[in-house]
Amino acid sequence: SCFCQLKGDLDDCSCSVENLDSFNNFKINPRLSVLLEKDYFRYFKVNMFKDCIFIKDASGKCGSSGCAVKECPEKKIPEGLKKNHSHSKNKVPTEKCDDNEDNELGVIDPHISDESKEAFETWKKYDDAQDNFCLLDDVESPDAVYYDLILNPERFTGYVGQSAVNVWKLIYEQNCFNQCFNNSYFALLTNLCLEKRVFYRMISGFHTSINVDVTANWLIPPKTPMDGPTWGPNLEEFRRRFDPDQTWGEGPKRLKNLYFTYLVELRALAKAAPYLEKEEYYTGNEKEDEEVRQIVKELLHEVKNFPHHFDETKLFQGDFQKLKEDFKVHFRNISRIMDCVGCDKCRLWGKLQITGMGTAMKILFSGDKGPHSTVTQEDKRAHNPFQLTRGEIVSLYNGFGRLSKSIHEVDHFRRMLS
Ligand code: FAD
Repeated sequence: SCFCQLKGDLDDCSCSVENLDSFNNFKINPRLSVLLEKDYFRYFKVNMFKDCIFIKDASGKCGSSGCAVKECPEKKIPEGLKKNHSHSKNKVPTEKCDDNEDNELGVIDPHISDESKEAFETWKKYDDAQDNFCLLDDVESPDAVYYDLILNPERFTGYVGQSAVNVWKLIYEQNCFNQCFNNSYFALLTNLCLEKRVFYRMISGFHTSINVDVTANWLIPPKTPMDGPTWGPNLEEFRRRFDPDQTWGEGPKRLKNLYFTYLVELRALAKAAPYLEKEEYYTGNEKEDEEVRQIVKELLHEVKNFPHHFDETKLFQGDFQKLKEDFKVHFRNISRIMDCVGCDKCRLWGKLQITGMGTAMKILFSGDKGPHSTVTQEDKRAHNPFQLTRGEIVSLYNGFGRLSKSIHEVDHFRRMLS
């Protein structure tokens, strides 16, 4: 079958397709599927009403009912999430700072006025945001609302045609750092330095993940007028998008990019494991919160013990700060491009997945020297160089969950073909 090419090494990593398939399909995907149904992870707050600053003509709106999303009524949101309690053991205790200059700046003098305190908080927030690869102003906007991800699943919506292609084009243009190359895989693979290639492969992997999910959850026409719509795999559509004979050999490479993006996010989870294990995942429902912590523990145990992790220290070897800043600017642009997606459901999941990917980058490259820094006892910042909001945590797990599910779906298609 055409998928005979989808095997062996994944380029830029020390892992093979076969290793990842069995690791994901047996150890990761079953745990994630249970975890992501829990309340902490299923309610995602986001601002869906921001203007698109890249495309003036809004004529690309998807008119299909499949594109619509249902907002979640406030009364359904668990109290623990609504009150925004700080139930995390990861928060930096600013009052207890000692000799570290950065930490001293974090101490708020109890005698200063409320206005100064507010200004300080705003400044500190701005400072913290400098490490972000995505724009996270969405959550705090008065227009932000909760969506129930289980009730708004990613699947075929009917968002096709020039509007969707234009958004993808805008996204791929962000891969042009100083110089533009044409979008051929070979040109990219041979001409680009590692950092830019990684950037391209991550976006392409994200694109593959969406398109695999769309073809795995295709709208099946009702057999009689009395039947409601159902969703299931469309093998012909999968073949059209990923078969090498039909798409000039790009299909298997695009599928490999899915595995590549998965590996980068897997590595970020492994690196953040000590932080994520300390999270309380608080919703106020003690029994469920305890179950969540237990599944997280098991999941992260598997993640940490994966033997073929992506090696992020190979990235940004040259001018670390310059390359990282470049990466960040282009990544933030992609998070703004999500406001141009003309289908609400696609925009919801697009925003979530890009925030998840940005969070993975933040974890991998936070700190002045990122993965190249040597951690010393004195360097307290380096011990915990990042802080994550609930939105980032939810996006990280759910974004990784989408990649994991797509790999599982690819395996399903492969078996259908054989
Ligand atoms: P497209 O997928 O639109 O591809 C455009 C161009 O990119 C093509 O020329 C193709 O050769 C190239 N290309 C395709 N895949 C890759 C890859 N992996 N790497 C590099 N280049 C590639 N539709 C839904 O039904 N449900 C959704 O939930 C959904 N979410 C979306 C989220 C976002 C952010 C966007 C931008 C689109 C979303 N779509 C969704 C639309 C979907 O991704 C496709 O655009 C649509 O199905 C039309 O597909 P197509 O075959 O015409 O090519």
